[in-house]
Amino acid sequence: MGLIVQKFGGSSVANTERIQNVARIVTDTYAKGNNVIVVVSAQGDTTDDFIEKAAEVNENPSKREMDVLLSAGEQISMSLLAMAIEKLGFPVKSLTGWQAGFLTDSNYGMARIRRINNERIENELGKKNIVIVAGFQGLNRYDDITTLGRGGSDTSAVALAAAFHADLCQIYTDVDGVDTADPRLVKNARKLDEISYDEMLELATLGAQVLHNRSVEMAKKYGINLEVVSSLERKPGTWVKEVTDVEKMLIKGVARDNDVARISIIGLEDKPGIAFRIFSILAAKKINVDIILQSIGRDGTKDISFTVSRSHKDAAVAVLEEIKKSLGAHDIVCEDNISKISVVGAGMQSNPGVASKMFEALTDANINIQMISTSEIKISVLIDIADSERAVVAIHDAFMVDYIK
Ligand code: ASP
Ligand code: MG
Repeated sequence: MGLIVQKFGGSSVANTERIQNVARIVTDTYAKGNNVIVVVSAQGDTTDDFIEKAAEVNENPSKREMDVLLSAGEQISMSLLAMAIEKLGFPVKSLTGWQAGFLTDSNYGMARIRRINNERIENELGKKNIVIVAGFQGLNRYDDITTLGRGGSDTSAVALAAAFHADLCQIYTDVDGVDTADPRLVKNARKLDEISYDEMLELATLGAQVLHNRSVEMAKKYGINLEVVSSLERKPGTWVKEVTDVEKMLIKGVARDNDVARISIIGLEDKPGIAFRIFSILAAKKINVDIILQSIGRDGTKDISFTVSRSHKDAAVAVLEEIKKSLGAHDIVCEDNISKISVVGAGMQSNPGVASKMFEALTDANINIQMISTSEIKISVLIDIADSERAVVAIHDAFMVDYIK
């Protein structure tokens, strides 16, 4: 007996049958004597559909109004799930993010949770109600609706688990847990029994879609007992925790991110202060830069290349064009037919040869590497997008050969 937070993603509540299935999972947990707080996402593609609808009436709506619209999706799910639970004869109450006490900053569309007022939920739990909370939403200090960024319901769930000192936070999805690669790309991808917070954070940031990266950050900070588990089949999922048995697997996952554009500034003067000027102006425009590479160009010049997400590509090129002359650059080139492939695993800290194994797999598949970047527990390469599926399969095969039955 304890307090369990269960979060159900959009596909888990996509239609009536799935909502009824979720109602059974929740009420089974409750019937075992647990207090249950449920967090729901919007059904299926609702959020995408809302974004399209908004674009039909205004191609540049205010972020405030966008959040008013997007937050409605989660409210549909929460009420339908509550009705399905009522029908099973259990006491239940659905709450919006603001009824549930989520206070955020005012960064519409990407708000951060500042605090959760526990009172209302505590009250409902005290009355033995199952509590359902709309994910991904809160209220700022002007009493305006905010949303937490795409995929933010995971973060709502982990925040509640932290605020209420839950014994367990379960993230229910339509896959069986965290896999070694996207099973749609890699046939023999397998479910991990466990993964560390740090590895999960890298994977979430590098394009694995299972968990919102801020939810993993928060789970690590508060030491939340986190499980990613299937809502469609009742079987064990993946535990996300502080340390895992690194001996067991060198690499935990291969991730692909196609939301990458590379910008190269060619023929820069080779003198101090150039990189600082470029990246400070990008930072001032809130453009997030990922991989940076500086190389020696012709005639004593240098080239600087870096990657950004595709949505930032045009803005980045525009600011660089403005300062191109004063930088003395010859050319600015932008490419977005590229993909970032990464391997992640804490085991690489103590085992040499991970990079060479990855590069060998790419060589054998005759795939050219354009850029490389590494951290303690990950290696990423940029390659042609046309090669990306083959690359994921080749790298996955090379590392997982010992673990795939
Ligand atoms: N409904 C929101 C989205 O589609 C939040 C979430 O699903 O976590 O991004
Ligand atoms: Mg999600």
